[in-house]
Amino acid sequence: MQQQTLKKQIVIEGVGLHSGAASVLTLKPAPTDFGVIFTRQGQNIGAKYFNVVDTRNCTAIGANGVTVSTIEHLMAALYAAGVDNVEIECSALELPILNGGAREFLDSLLDVGVATQEKKRHYLKVLKPVCFEDEKGAKVQLLPNGGKDLHIHFEIEFPSKIVGHQTFEGDITPEVFSTQIAPCRTFCEKQQIDYLRSIGLIKGGSLDNAVVLDGDHILNPGGFKVENECVNHKVLDAVGDLYTSGFRILADSVCSKSGHYHNNELLKKLFADETNFEIV
Ligand SMILES: [Zn+2]
Repeated sequence: MQQQTLKKQIVIEGVGLHSGAASVLTLKPAPTDFGVIFTRQGQNIGAKYFNVVDTRNCTAIGANGVTVSTIEHLMAALYAAGVDNVEIECSALELPILNGGAREFLDSLLDVGVATQEKKRHYLKVLKPVCFEDEKGAKVQLLPNGGKDLHIHFEIEFPSKIVGHQTFEGDITPEVFSTQIAPCRTFCEKQQIDYLRSIGLIKGGSLDNAVVLDGDHILNPGGFKVENECVNHKVLDAVGDLYTSGFRILADSVCSKSGHYHNNELLKKLFADETNFEIV
């Protein structure tokens, strides 16, 4: 498989989830071996796990004091669309939240299409199990699968009965991503929202871009967009975060109750030992 970039430039506009501020992204075709690089205020920031500076509510990357946040949904869409090389100019700190998933990002990428480049793509093949677990029982693993494409098993356990125990298991193919993963919105509890509003955050949040749970009820008038929307959104985040490895990872990823922090720690452990993987 060859490396790919965009056929032409794309502009995507929206508002940031927390700031509510206008945010414009300009995605530009890039040469081979360029990777995914964000630029803001003249600073280049590679979309790499070692540039991650915050994982509390999203994945944020930074360099020399310049940060861009909430990169994960766009990263997942780039993965699904098969984009290896792209420069992403950002007008604001936060990427646009759009529908809270990856639908618009993916549609924009697919509308323009990808161009095949002259060099071969490299993949990261996991050779040994790598695991990161926290003290609260959240766990993420990368397991060798003989060099097949990324396969994810994810489970969440949420107190609200409308979510409860949800699982996802599947290969992250373009079709699976587009139909089951891309539409899935961020989710949170109403009491969390009330708190975040009180401290001046989530000004760009609405029932259009987040699933809001109030006890055992969902506040969004249309309900869930797909069955198991909550766990599938966690899969979306994991696909985006794993792409900050700089590679398409050939492994089975087994995730339980994990989030951005765990995904980032997992990649740090993966790269800490060269015998964990090979580049093919
Ligand atoms: Zn997310």
